[in-house]
Amino acid sequence: MKKFFAILCILCLLCACSCTDKPPVQQDDPPAPVDPIDPDPANPVQPDPVEPDPIEPDPVVPVEPDPIEPDPVEPAYPDISDFEVLDPTVVYSLREFELVAPDSTAAVYPAGMTFLSAGEVDSFAVIVRADGLYLAPADAFSADKPASALALEFEKGGSYYPGSDKVVVIDPGHQSKGMSEKEPNGPGSSVLKAKVASGTQGVATGIEEYKLNLAVSLLLRDELIERGYTVVMIRESNDARISNAERAVMANEYEADAFIRIHANGSDNPDTKGAIAIFQTKDNPWCGDLYAQSRLLSETVLEYYCAESGIENDGNWETDTMTGINWTRVPSTIIELGYMSNPDEDRLMATEEFHAAAALGIAQGIDSFFDIAED
Ligand SMILES: [Zn+2]
Repeated sequence: MKKFFAILCILCLLCACSCTDKPPVQQDDPPAPVDPIDPDPANPVQPDPVEPDPIEPDPVVPVEPDPIEPDPVEPAYPDISDFEVLDPTVVYSLREFELVAPDSTAAVYPAGMTFLSAGEVDSFAVIVRADGLYLAPADAFSADKPASALALEFEKGGSYYPGSDKVVVIDPGHQSKGMSEKEPNGPGSSVLKAKVASGTQGVATGIEEYKLNLAVSLLLRDELIERGYTVVMIRESNDARISNAERAVMANEYEADAFIRIHANGSDNPDTKGAIAIFQTKDNPWCGDLYAQSRLLSETVLEYYCAESGIENDGNWETDTMTGINWTRVPSTIIELGYMSNPDEDRLMATEEFHAAAALGIAQGIDSFFDIAED
């Protein structure tokens, strides 16, 4: 019997081989090897288990990728990858809302901000920003507010960091390119000044003022976020194009509790040194009513800044010539960190240790301002 089965096995193998071989062989022989197998009822067991095996793994493979598909359910936002921006309009946020980035990360924005909307998809507004399209609940906006180019300018460089109800707006003075076009130096003023001067430069280091201002401002931002404040950065890049009036109006839009403008000084006299704070006079026609608050903010910030940085405190300068102050409706100050025309101060202000100390001191001054103002 064993021999008999062995022969059958060989026949089976021959048959299997011939089945997969070229047709010419099959055409001649098929009837002979195939027939003998059929009459034997004892052996059909062998060929059967061989064939189903290769079939089984096949259906298993396509089943596995299926459970991976549920992922696309996650984004609850409409796909705007093909959205075409045709005629954007400025909209005004009526309430706090979430602005969702293309990668589904979201940030919370307060009521009162202006944005550029390119239309609606489902129940979402498509918001246009410099780095792409975002989504927000359409019912959070109204187009009632007069259109303003300021929102768009701001969107090119500003950032908002939600925190407590105390809002600090930081304006790193200047930007990589000045804007020589003129703007009124106060609301309705006939005096026109360049939108943004190019700023000064380190006499020893060659560092441009706008870079120093931003370096200190970014650390100040981090200090204030850590202390729980809501922080608004007018710019976080040197490539911004925002006029001084626009910076002030943005501080107003955010209803800043403190508007801190970071600058560095320059003088023809290389011996001139020290830090000063600049704010409006009490007779300022646009913001004289904010004189006391701006003065308190200036004095506290300058005091703590000088104590931490080691820069000499050269006092206050009250003036109504500053566009970025005249347009404000919030407590504001310009801190002139020191003189970049003084080689010693220039070299000191170029160090990372100074940047950190300056940011720490200014943050302490802001804490102190709020402490005193609330008493
Ligand atoms: Zn400056």
